[in-house]
Formats: sequence, structure tokens, C-alpha cells
Amino acid sequence: MVLNSKGRLYIISAPSGAGKTTLCNMLMKKYPAIQYSISYTTRAPRGNEQNGKEYFFIDEDKFKTMISEEIFLEWAQVHGNYYGTSKQQIENALNNGTDIILDIDPQGAMQLKEKTKNLATYIFITAPSIGELKSRLIKRGTDKDEHIALRIENAKKEVEYFKNYDYLIINDASDTAFEQLENIYLAEKLRTNQYDNIIDFMNI
Ligand code: 5GP
Repeated sequence: MVLNSKGRLYIISAPSGAGKTTLCNMLMKKYPAIQYSISYTTRAPRGNEQNGKEYFFIDEDKFKTMISEEIFLEWAQVHGNYYGTSKQQIENALNNGTDIILDIDPQGAMQLKEKTKNLATYIFITAPSIGELKSRLIKRGTDKDEHIALRIENAKKEVEYFKNYDYLIINDASDTAFEQLENIYLAEKLRTNQYDNIIDFMNI
């Protein structure tokens, strides 16, 4: 008999340029059973992004219709665009016992805190300095100068939320940061509230 840990939500926020996407991809590569919550956004695709992979790209009218139809578990306006998490995707993952990563901003994360209680782990990732965030965004080369300036301005506000998260990762070197993220992932799966009972498992 196998003792299965229930599905868990990993809510991950970070200012742009902190390396969150790379770290999440590393985790999902090592643990392929982890799902990624594909958000809806009104932002235009960037670089090689594909509809249905990184995001579902939709227009503002459609987004607003989806808000009124209560499709979203949470939604927020970030850097001038709308972003939202599909309620259905999260419910499906949890019903199937699957772990799922939600890469969302602090406004969205705060909307979920009451709803998720013991079901979720909140992780905040940042770069060691604001200068480092900026140079990573410039190096990425996918954002216009004014977008970078806006993202840096917002970074200052986003970092203020860090105390509302369970864990903080300072992404100075990606191998160390990955190790930290992996350790958090694994430890959180061992929480007693991940299990309904161990009576059957232990043949008691
Ligand atoms: P980007 O445009 O760089 O992909 O994402 C910008 C910001 O929007 C990031 O902070 C990202 O975490 C956040 N974001 C992405 N999807 C969602 C979502 O569904 N809800 C919320 N609240 N934020 C999101």
C-alpha cells in the first residue's frame, strides 16, 4: 500500500527579473508530476511565448467577461495588464492529487490566503538587489525600456509583501536558489495535513 500525499498549491511571487520562471522550470523538470497553472492575460506574447503554454492570451473584453462569469480564483492588474488564475484548473489539480505551481503577483497571492488555508505554501523569490533585477531584465532583452522602468518601480512595491509569504529565497546563484526551492517543495509535501490518515497504510 502506498501512502499518497495530497495535491498542494505552491504560490510563487517575485519581482520581474528575480529568476522565478527559470527556478520553477527547473523544479518541474526534476519533478514532472508538478503542474503549472496557466494564467489568462491581456498582455501581448513576449519572445517565443505560445498561447496555452506560458499563458492563455486574451483581449480585455474577454477578460472582463470572464471576471463577471466568476471564472477566476483570483485576478489582478499587474504592470498595466490583467492576469487571472482559472478556478477550474486549480480545482482539477487538487481533485487529482496533483501539485500545482501558481506564478502570480502579490495582489493575487493575498486574495488566495484566506481561501487556501492549509492547502498552499507561499514562496517569495527576489534578486539580491534592485540593480541586479534591472540588469537581468535588460539582459533578457524582451522588454522595452519603459516596460523595464515600470517593472522596476513595481518591484519596490512587491517586495514589501514578503512577510506575507512562508518562505523567502534570495536568488543570487541559481543552483543554490534551486536547492532551496526543492527543499521547500519536499518538506511541505511531508506536512501531516497532506495526509488524511495513516491507519490503513500501517495496517493497524
Ligand atoms: P509577466 O508579464 O512577466 O509574465 O508577469 C507579470 C506578473 O504577473 C508576474 O509578477 C506574474 O507572477 C504575475 N502573474 C502571472 N499570472 C498571474 C495571475 O494569474 N494572477 C496574478 N495575480 N498575477 C499573475
